[in-house]
Amino acid sequence: MPQTIDHEGYPEEVNLDNCAKEPIHIIGKTQAYGVLLVCDALNLKITQAGTNSEQFFSVPHEELLGQELSLLLKQEKIDALKEALAQKEISIPHEVEINGKKFLMLAHFSDINLVLDFEPLNEDRDPYFFQKQLSRILNKIKSTHSIEHLCRTATVLTKQMFGYDRVMVYRFDEEWNGEVIAENKNEEMQSWLGLHYPTTDIPQQSRAMFLKHRVRVITNVDYEPVALVPQLSPLTKDSLNLSRSSLRAVSPIHIEYLKNMDVGASLSAAIVVRGKLWGLIACHHNTAKYLDHYQRESCRFLAQMLSTEIELQETNSYISNTELSEGLRQELVQQMRQKSEISEGLSRGAVKFTDLVSCGGGALFFNNSWTFVGQTPSEEQVQELLVHLLVEKESLYHTRRLAEEFPPAEAYKDVASGILSLRVSENKYIMWFRPEVVQTVNWGGNPEKKAFYNEEKQRISPRKSVEKWSQQVNGISKDWKDCDISVARALRENVSHLVLARQSEEIATLNEQLWQANEELELFSYGLSHDLRAPVRGVDGFLQILQEDFSEEMEPEAKELLQKSREMMLKMNTLIDDILEYSGLHKSGEINFQEVEVNPLLQEIIEFYNLKTLYPAVQLEISERLPKMKGDRRMLFQLWSNLITNACKYSAVSQNARVEIGVEQQDGKKVYFVKDNGIGFDQKHAAKIFSTFSRVAGSKFEGSGIGLAIVKRILEKHGGEIWAKSQPGEGAAFYFSL
Ligand code: ADP
Repeated sequence: MPQTIDHEGYPEEVNLDNCAKEPIHIIGKTQAYGVLLVCDALNLKITQAGTNSEQFFSVPHEELLGQELSLLLKQEKIDALKEALAQKEISIPHEVEINGKKFLMLAHFSDINLVLDFEPLNEDRDPYFFQKQLSRILNKIKSTHSIEHLCRTATVLTKQMFGYDRVMVYRFDEEWNGEVIAENKNEEMQSWLGLHYPTTDIPQQSRAMFLKHRVRVITNVDYEPVALVPQLSPLTKDSLNLSRSSLRAVSPIHIEYLKNMDVGASLSAAIVVRGKLWGLIACHHNTAKYLDHYQRESCRFLAQMLSTEIELQETNSYISNTELSEGLRQELVQQMRQKSEISEGLSRGAVKFTDLVSCGGGALFFNNSWTFVGQTPSEEQVQELLVHLLVEKESLYHTRRLAEEFPPAEAYKDVASGILSLRVSENKYIMWFRPEVVQTVNWGGNPEKKAFYNEEKQRISPRKSVEKWSQQVNGISKDWKDCDISVARALRENVSHLVLARQSEEIATLNEQLWQANEELELFSYGLSHDLRAPVRGVDGFLQILQEDFSEEMEPEAKELLQKSREMMLKMNTLIDDILEYSGLHKSGEINFQEVEVNPLLQEIIEFYNLKTLYPAVQLEISERLPKMKGDRRMLFQLWSNLITNACKYSAVSQNARVEIGVEQQDGKKVYFVKDNGIGFDQKHAAKIFSTFSRVAGSKFEGSGIGLAIVKRILEKHGGEIWAKSQPGEGAAFYFSL
């Protein structure tokens, strides 16, 4: 409630435009069923009085002002009040007698003003009436199987106890619109059960008052509001905040509203669940009706009991709903496991994904095809929604106002004003749709036929309320609750899990097939190379004979062609040898492990490949006393020779070509290296160059693209690894460890 309006006082005229700002707590007047006096708590002198005091006390209000309260009350009552003030227990009611009439005096503080409400006391009251009412409430209001049933019981009990003509339980939704969910009324009256009202019918400041003061009685809508004299408190020089006074007058707008409903008197009691206003017990009487303090207290107790039971019911139903949806989800998981397609498991079994969340229907988008269950927009509409909205949203997205987010959805708001959508992966979506609330409302008959009277001259009436409410909930679905979201989230986990499991099965199968294909290919290339070796050697033999024995008689051009053919045959031979070597490595599983001295091995390689003659410009620097290696000597020979010949080949063109061979520690591991200052390569090729036939150096450099693949395979066989670092033009470094 905004405190700022305290100082402005109650406006002269309140209309519908300023209704929500109406300062109902400082209304400055009282209802007419009792008298209000205000005292200075320090000396109990009367500072303000209701103008109806003469009617009740036989003393005009003018005569009361400035007088001590003892003018009206006996000394023992004054003493009791002083005692209560000292003990800070002023809220206890006092039964008092003033000029021969009995009253109940209810005191409270408003700021520093001591406010006293005097209500006439019914002399014939049964002294045990209150206790009897409480035990009746205790017996009746207890756990039943539903909140609706509980509320129905409360309306029956309230009607029996307090005798109003119509008793309703009115429940708020998330936006503070209300719905009549239970009703007990006189037979001849029209039922309002199921009617909805907009937020504005019980504005925010009234709700705040209900939350604080719980029970409100309006005894007669035709009453003449009683003024307080003087209007401002002489103690605070300000309007009096009367929010805690039962006598507080009623907002003229509310009176008009009640009159338009033909209501003569009303009682409202707050139902508060988990500290929040959940609803109201709303009672209407056709004529004036007074409810004394003790009955109001009974009503407060009843509302409190009802609140507690509702809270319990809500907790229980949350638990059982969670259990239920948990069970359904487990069944869905079973179904998904059994079916070859996950979407089939979700939509075709005994349990469907749409059973998991309360909805009108749902859609699945799995691998580019749609499956629909229940009431949904058309495939084109959902497809459009997916492409233009859902792909851009979070993977879990929900709204109850879809058309506001996505205007084309206006066309199908009757089935999908609300959507809860899950993206499992890029091409897998699960969606639930909820219809517009208006479509789902049970009107308890046709609202058009509800007999609300005198329609033209009314600004506010239930009829108008229904229309206004319908406008307010236009295009809105019921809210998605936390439990909906969490069950959807859990389902997504299940589906992702299954999708991944299936994918990894598929990948494993594909991998297996790939391995087989690769094996076959290697076998094939081995066979081919093997079979080619004899004819290639044969051809080379014949070419050699031609060259040696017949070249004398040949033209120079023929001689040159012959020479070129022999060179080509040599290349072919090398290639065949490399392929055989590589495939051979793959086939022969046995490794002959032994300790190998590295420096002599390298020396052997230099001589074997005649490197000093082939690459005279390359300076080879080999660390002395390289540590021994453990492995297959023949294979290690191949490994080093491939790396060293590459380093020489790719650096020979550089100025001051240099190849360095050594060992260093990296992360506590002994790592051998071969570094050169040759042409290098782009680091992005660092992994690729270890695959068969993968060359990045360009045709200027001869090679088969198999050497590094052999190196890698040898290291794999030895449980080692190799990696390379390089930049174009800045040399290359190959590192390996065993
Ligand atoms: P190749 O027979 O082509 O040398 P490799 O398998 O031995 O085949 O090497 C694959 C590719 O890696 C080469 O074609 C070359 O592009 C690159 N490469 C290998 N070693 C070096 C190096 N020391 N410097 C630059 N590039 C290299």
